[in-house]
Amino acid sequence: MTTNRSIGCNVIECKHHAKTESYCSLNHIDVVKHTGTATTVECTDCGSFEPQG
Ligand code: SF4
Repeated sequence: MTTNRSIGCNVIECKHHAKTESYCSLNHIDVVKHTGTATTVECTDCGSFEPQG
């Protein structure tokens, strides 16, 4: 697993988390919004999240 230092992340429950450091291991992630128009940080999330297997 490689650490992508361009994508910081503290979601340790995700299978793509680098674990030893607070980064993602993917080369690319999709950021999504939950509402038609995003007005707060809570409206956005990582769409590449996958639960630990
Ligand atoms: S896929 Fe998203 S939630 Fe999972 S480690 Fe990467 S940035 Fe974090």
